[in-house]
Amino acid sequence: MSGQVLDGKKISQDIQEELRPRIETLRTKKRAPALAVVLVGEDPASQIYVRNKIKTCRDLGITSIDMTPPEDSSTEELLAVIGKLNANPDVDGILVQSPLPKQIDESRILLAIAPGKDADGFHPFNVGNLVANRPAPRACTPAGIIEMLKRCNVPISGRHAVVVGRSDIVGKPMALMLLHENATVTICHSRTRDLAAECRRADILVAATGKAGLITGQHIKPGAVVIDVGMNRVTDPALAKKLIGHDSARWAAFEKNGRTLVGDVEPLAMERMSSAFTPVPGGVGPLTIAMLMSNTLHLAEQHLA
Ligand code: NAP
Repeated sequence: MSGQVLDGKKISQDIQEELRPRIETLRTKKRAPALAVVLVGEDPASQIYVRNKIKTCRDLGITSIDMTPPEDSSTEELLAVIGKLNANPDVDGILVQSPLPKQIDESRILLAIAPGKDADGFHPFNVGNLVANRPAPRACTPAGIIEMLKRCNVPISGRHAVVVGRSDIVGKPMALMLLHENATVTICHSRTRDLAAECRRADILVAATGKAGLITGQHIKPGAVVIDVGMNRVTDPALAKKLIGHDSARWAAFEKNGRTLVGDVEPLAMERMSSAFTPVPGGVGPLTIAMLMSNTLHLAEQHLA
């Protein structure tokens, strides 16, 4: 069996095309939606993520307001930046790129963002709305996964979904969103006793651990739908060989560059055993940005109504 590829890139483009006319309506009738992107310091991976978000904003006609406070900013200084963005009527959404430098109290920053400008859906007020299944900005990665499952006609209601990982940004909101779609949900984490046995019960398996290749053929029920959220940079040749050695093009690229990007699931096992799966790269990643744009537009429509 060879699983169907769930093409996140294509679905992300479809979502963005659907947002365009709504953005255009706001631009002509009121003003362009605006997203403030706050990047503290110069972490190279964060710079790439932020650049992609800003580029997508520009492509769609969303104004991006780029704030780059210095690496040694204090919590108080960053709170002042957030305060100004909260008070600015021309800003619809605020995103603070994580991770923040360690001297900054991240939870105070997230709490300071006005819930009505919370483009990432991480504010406890909006998390509460998610728990209560009330409308509010939702965490982008799990919201993108639900959108993908629906657009690919993957049934969720009544299925057994297993989410591996319980972070605030992926695992927990993912489990709640699957629950609201009437899946029976199991959440696994680093203390789960028999991870493989739990995962093998999944009709829909979502891996969000940040551990390259943690999920193997032992964890996948034949015919399951496998969603691989992991984005892991691998430089160890032995691990890379194990995970991508079967793919001559990817292996050649690894030999040339000394690094590769892999998910949390062994690619070959996922391809062979699932009925459908998200590849890494090109699966879940592009959906996250599309949902960020969607959240920003929703917030702008509310502010400008
Ligand atoms: P995180 O905050 O580090 O959380 C990882 C979770 O995995 C934790 O709940 C942890 O359990 C669990 N875990 C770790 N090792 C495990 C093991 N051996 N067995 C079972 N569970 C284990 O990570 P995150 O922010 O959720 O991100 C997870 C991955 O998704 C990362 O690779 C990240 O880069 C990627 N990601 C991708 C996107 C995207 O757009 N594609 C977006 C966000 C994140 P404990 O709670 O017990 O420690």
